[in-house]
Amino acid sequence: MAGLTLGGGYSPLSPRYGLAVDNLLGVEIVLADGRRITVCDLEHPELFWALRGGGGNFGVVTALRIRLHPMRELLAGMILFPLSDAGSVLRGYAEIMASAPDELTVMAGMMSPPDVGPVVFLAPVWSGSPSAGEECMTVLRRLGKPIVSQVSAMTFGDLLGMFDDHVVNGRHYALETRWLTELAPALLSELVAGEDARTSPFSMIMLHHFHGAAARISASATAFGLRREHFMLEILAAWDSAPGDDGTSHRRWAGELSRMAARHASPGGYPNVLGPEAYDQIPFAHGSNIGRLRDVKGRFDADNIFSGIPLAI
Ligand SMILES: Cc1cc2nc3c(=O)[nH]c(=O)nc-3n(C[C@H](O)[C@H](O)[C@H](O)COP(=O)(O)OP(=O)(O)OC[C@H]3O[C@@H](n4cnc5c(N)ncnc54)[C@H](O)[C@@H]3O)c2cc1C
Repeated sequence: MAGLTLGGGYSPLSPRYGLAVDNLLGVEIVLADGRRITVCDLEHPELFWALRGGGGNFGVVTALRIRLHPMRELLAGMILFPLSDAGSVLRGYAEIMASAPDELTVMAGMMSPPDVGPVVFLAPVWSGSPSAGEECMTVLRRLGKPIVSQVSAMTFGDLLGMFDDHVVNGRHYALETRWLTELAPALLSELVAGEDARTSPFSMIMLHHFHGAAARISASATAFGLRREHFMLEILAAWDSAPGDDGTSHRRWAGELSRMAARHASPGGYPNVLGPEAYDQIPFAHGSNIGRLRDVKGRFDADNIFSGIPLAI
């Protein structure tokens, strides 16, 4: 929770309740000079502002106070379509998300599950009334000819476990990310071609839509960099160890696809998933908040003792 929250924290419930960081009420932190202080809206408010999106750049956070929301059940799951439907499914997805209500998030992407083969997927999460949710799922299923449609009522805990099978201990991962303001048809075609050209069956392309409550918060309210509606693109190269495979081809696949996507992207990217070598993106990852962040950095950690998440200082 600490790293995820301090850097932002995208969640399937962000359109309803904001980013994780928007639900942070206060922290206890040990600073570079050894002091342990409490930070919130009333105490050290400028540092509290910076910690909400500025990540692990100011000290070691030893406690987080977080606003909780009661949530008994959600309607969620996975709809898989053949990869040949990718163009029409993703174009329809973009249209639906352009007017999506706060109760709906849909992650979309392309992957190749064992026993199923290459697919385009939609992973919807609905947190409103069950009957309206069923209608929404019907609209999503009609975007193509589903091979698998498993959508059901579940707890938030079940939802968090849904992708566990794709995160295998010991596997190698390299992640690239971009912020996209829209899913232009040319970009979608290139992403589909990129999925076809992947170098490992475990690699995936994912799109997370950011809208609703998280996008209604002012850009200057916290240090998080992008409050406009957008898609967060993740290009995840994943591969198992094999003799003669040093990972170069998989990293190159993700890097080339990311550079292609850059032509359609906003500058910057989500700091929690940006690597330290993302020189072209880091200076823009905190948007217009970077100047104010640098000031707070100078006051609380001028020697740059803490540099966990990329920050252009
Ligand atoms: C499988 C997987 C799923 C993910 N899903 C999501 C998702 O749904 N939404 C999302 O927004 N992100 C997601 N992420 C990305 C996630 O936000 C980052 O990986 C984040 O850095 C995780 O923080 P951590 O504390 O767990 O990791 P760590 O590796 O422990 O920490 C990462 C960085 O966070 C900071 N940090 C951590 N703890 C502290 C602390 N106590 N005090 C100060 N700084 C600290 C430091 O800068 C540190 O370098 C996912 C990552 C993975 C691997």
